[in-house]
Amino acid sequence: DGGLAVNFKERGLLIVLSGPSGVGKGTVCRALREEEDNNLQYSVSATTRKPREGEVEGIHYFFKSREEFERMIEQKELLEHAEFVGNYYGTPVEWVRETLENGQDVILEIEVQGAFQVKELLPEAVFLFLAPPSLQELRNRLIGRGTESEEVIKQRLLVAREEIELMDAYDYVVTNDEVDKAIDRIKAIVTAEHCKRERV
Ligand code: 5GP
Repeated sequence: DGGLAVNFKERGLLIVLSGPSGVGKGTVCRALREEEDNNLQYSVSATTRKPREGEVEGIHYFFKSREEFERMIEQKELLEHAEFVGNYYGTPVEWVRETLENGQDVILEIEVQGAFQVKELLPEAVFLFLAPPSLQELRNRLIGRGTESEEVIKQRLLVAREEIELMDAYDYVVTNDEVDKAIDRIKAIVTAEHCKRERV
C-alpha cells in the first residue's frame, strides 16, 4: 500500500465519503472544512472534467488533460482513480500520506468505484455513504443545481442507481435529508471512530 498503513495509532483517520452525484457531498464537505473544531483535511482530487463556473484550480480540483492524468496513473501518483460519466477522477496519494502521518484526519469525497479501491488498500479507513432521501429528490437536486446538461444528468442518475445498490458495503449510511443534520451525524461518526481506536 505504499507505506500508508504504518504508524497506525499516531496517524489520522482516513474517511471516505461516497454517494451519488447531486446528493450534497460537496456541500457537506465544504461545511466540514470550514469548521474549526475538527482535525479534518480535505483531499483535492485530480480530474479531466472541465472546471465549472467558480471552480478554482487547486481548491476544487487539479484540472488535468487526459494525457496528464494517464501519466499520473502510470507514475503511481494516485491512491485510486475511476472513470465517471466520461471523465477521470483520482486522489493524489502523496498529500494523503503526508497528512495522515502528521496525525490529521483526511476526508476523500469520491465515487463508489474509487471507494472500493481504497477499501482494498486500506480496509481500516472509515467508509461513509451519503444517501438521498429518494431518487426523485436526487433528480430534483441535480436539475436544481443547473451545472450539467440534461443528457449528463440522465447518465448521472443511471450511475446513482448502481451506486445506491452498493451502499451495504459501507460502514455507515448518512441520509442527507437536511444538511446540518447530515453534518452532525458525520462529526459524531468521526468522534466515535477515534474513540474506537483509543483501545487499539
Ligand atoms: P463532479 O464532476 O460532480 O465534481 O464529480 C463526479 C463524481 O466524481 C462525484 O461522485 C465525486 O464525488 C467523484 N469524485 C471526485 N473526485 C474523485 C476522486 O478523486 N476519485 C473518485 N473515484 N471519484 C471522485
